[in-house]
Amino acid sequence: MNQLEYLKLLKLARTALEEYKNWDEEELVIDNSMMQNNTEQKKVEPNVEKINKEEINNLEKQEEAIDTITKNVQTKNAEQKLEDLKKQIIGCKKCDLGKYRLNAVFGSGDAYADIMFIGEGPGFQEDHKGQPFIGKAGDLLTKIIIAMGFTRETVYIANIVKCHPMKNPQEPELKSNDRPPTIEEMQVCQPYLDEQIKIIKPKVIVTLGASSTRALLKTDEVISSLRGKFTTYLAIPLMPTYHPAALLRNPKLKKDVWIDMQKVMALVKKKG
Ligand code: SF4
Repeated sequence: MNQLEYLKLLKLARTALEEYKNWDEEELVIDNSMMQNNTEQKKVEPNVEKINKEEINNLEKQEEAIDTITKNVQTKNAEQKLEDLKKQIIGCKKCDLGKYRLNAVFGSGDAYADIMFIGEGPGFQEDHKGQPFIGKAGDLLTKIIIAMGFTRETVYIANIVKCHPMKNPQEPELKSNDRPPTIEEMQVCQPYLDEQIKIIKPKVIVTLGASSTRALLKTDEVISSLRGKFTTYLAIPLMPTYHPAALLRNPKLKKDVWIDMQKVMALVKKKG
């Protein structure tokens, strides 16, 4: 190798070394850049999490607000529907009972009750107060409801007829003037009860006594053979049982009523 060839070889080697050096530095730059990006990503990630948490919190708050609004609207709907129906009943004169009553007795309780108790019609005291099931029979019904784990405010109580059937309609102030409603009176008034049931949509209906049970089930059977067995009305389970007034006359029947109510409680629990 002469001196010229040696210098050419040395130049090539130097160029290769420079290229290698540049390539290495470039790679180093890329690596640093990647590391920097990774670091930046790591720095950014907590912010993303923070934003996500804030968004989730906001969404949860929005969902809660929507739930509250929906519940209020639903509550207003059922309560408003019952109020609208009540106005119709207060002005109703579809049968003669409307001519002599002191007060129409619409019903009382929770518009979204799980259980709806249905009696035959208002008596003397209910007519005077405009409330269903008051007096001694009403007090006993209240005790039964409480024993079941509810209150009068958390169930719904109504009657087949909304006006007081009287033996002598000219004497609304006369005690012991009560009588059961006739089949015709119940037939005329029953659409109001049906509407109440459709609005409230209870999980279980409990009919109290022979009149209300027979009216809804369209049967002539005696209450002693109907009670304790579930049937349905408007596609809702219905449990017939004795009227609280019957329990006052014959306390031995309380045991049967409690057996019936335990079945009702079990079904309500099962339906959630
Ligand atoms: S008993 Fe019923 S149908 Fe008859 S007047 Fe009263 S609300 Fe109307």
